[in-house]
Order: sequence, then structure tokens, then C-alpha cells
Amino acid sequence: MKPSNCIFCKIARKEIKVEILKESENFIAFPDANPKAEGHTLVIPKKHFVTLLDIPNNKGDELIKMVKDISSDLLDSKKADGFNILMNNLTPAGQVVFHAHIHIIPRKEGDGIRTIS
Ligand code: 5GP
Ligand code: ZN
Repeated sequence: MKPSNCIFCKIARKEIKVEILKESENFIAFPDANPKAEGHTLVIPKKHFVTLLDIPNNKGDELIKMVKDISSDLLDSKKADGFNILMNNLTPAGQVVFHAHIHIIPRKEGDGIRTIS
């Protein structure tokens, strides 16, 4: 998939409007269009990388900081009492959009959500 046709590249380039929850130099976070729970958030690199393995190591701190900030906001806002961090890498693992993304899924006691599809 070329970046020109990639839906998450279009979101990163702001050609498709989404609610941007957080933005840093290399990453943005926005709500998942089909949330497993209210507050289900995706964190993506602005550049077109396919899996975790393609994201440069020197961007790791920036990425984990955004994942932690979103997770912390979910707890503080009481949208979540816990959270799952999930990343599907390549087809056998359930990746559907081939632009790397980390799911942050808010959890509540007894919500019945199954996180591995
Ligand atoms: P995965 O590739 O990890 O299996 O799932 C891709 C995720 O991206 C799904 O949870 C799906 O709901 C979400 N998604 C797919 N297309 C869009 C889109 O255009 N906008 C947003 N906000 N989320 C999307
Ligand atoms: Zn892309």
C-alpha cells in the first residue's frame, strides 16, 4: 500500500478529519472508528510504517509517552478503570490497516470485552 492510498496516512496528513486527541512530532492519537469501548484510541506514527518493527527505535520514548498519556487520561476521566494496549502486526495477527497503530482499549470490571479478535 502506497502512503498516498493509506487511510491512516490521510488521517496523519489531515486530509481526513478526525478528532485528534494528542499530537507530537512523530505520532498522533485519535478515536477508533469502531470502538470496542468508549474511549478506544489509536496511536499511529505520522510516517507510513507497516508494523512495530519498522518504527525507528529512537522514536520509542515519544511513542510510549503518548500511549501512557492517553491511558492516564482515560483513567483520570473515569472512562476506564483499566486498559489494554494491543497491536496487531501483519495478517495472521489480525492487522487490517497496514499502517502501524497501537490500540488503547479502556476496560471496566465485567465489561466482557475480548481483546484478541
Ligand atoms: P487492526 O488493523 O488493528 O485490526 O484494526 C484497524 C482498526 O482501525 C480497527 O479497530 C478499525 O475500527 C480502525 N479503523 C479503520 N479505518 C478507520 C478510519 O478510517 N478511521 C478511524 N478512526 N479508525 C479506523
Ligand atoms: Zn500509511
